[in-house]
Amino acid sequence: MKDYIVRAISFDKTVRIFSINATDTVKEAQVRHNTWPTASAALGRTLVVGAMMGAMLKGRESLTVKINGNGPIGEIIVDANAIGEVKGYVSNPEVHFQYPNGKLNVSSAVGKDGELRVIKDLGMKDFFVSSVDIISGELGEDFTYYFTKSEQTPSSVGCGVLVDTDNSVLAAGGFIVQIMPGATEETISKLESVINNIKPVSKMINEGYTPEKIVAEICKDEPYSIISTLDVHFICKCSKDKFARGLISLGKDELKEIIEEDKGAEIVCHFCNKKYHYSETELLELLGSINN
Ligand code: ZN
Repeated sequence: MKDYIVRAISFDKTVRIFSINATDTVKEAQVRHNTWPTASAALGRTLVVGAMMGAMLKGRESLTVKINGNGPIGEIIVDANAIGEVKGYVSNPEVHFQYPNGKLNVSSAVGKDGELRVIKDLGMKDFFVSSVDIISGELGEDFTYYFTKSEQTPSSVGCGVLVDTDNSVLAAGGFIVQIMPGATEETISKLESVINNIKPVSKMINEGYTPEKIVAEICKDEPYSIISTLDVHFICKCSKDKFARGLISLGKDELKEIIEEDKGAEIVCHFCNKKYHYSETELLELLGSINN
């Protein structure tokens, strides 16, 4: 099953629901970064929610989620856009903590002393930056707090990643339920009771639930309509040319120094872990392209 997001409305258009299967996306992130299970869960949960937040944007808008709770994983960075492209990494992929019951302890990896920041690039150099303190480090709760506090939209965020015994990702997905103006108390309490009793989302995905089926679980006997669907992929658009422009921007002196000292350069893309090698000849060419 390919990865995609559905957007739905229910409860007389007073509730909006996003739901995603992101198994392949998180699987790819795990392979590229060789993350240990708890790091896979932390990065995967952020990719899951980041992708849904991307789906809330329009046109060429994009966003970056930066989480730093001062835990051993360091920073978690995820980029997403309105067309279902998402990528991300963590500072330290080799992090693994478990609760005594065997569940992945994401909170201990992420830490609780820091912030969750969202930077939206709305085009024309127009940025929207907003952040909240990390309150749990399990991330679902932190995103819930972000939407309610920063975007003034009462929301409930579920996100989960199931990791196999060989460290590969078995299932990943999530949902965001948002209460729009005009929702009744009855609607809110009904949703609260459903969400408090819903199966873990990674388990639902692993049992073959589609994003549509997760929406149906959340709405129970309430009618809903699916407004749109969006395919999701882990994509990094880095290239040797792009990084070459970065080398050029270092300036003549620094580039000369690299050539003299290292006789070449290797650049690793943080987002996808791809390595680009520049030979001495290539670096000299770049140097030659700089006008005084
Ligand atoms: Zn890349």
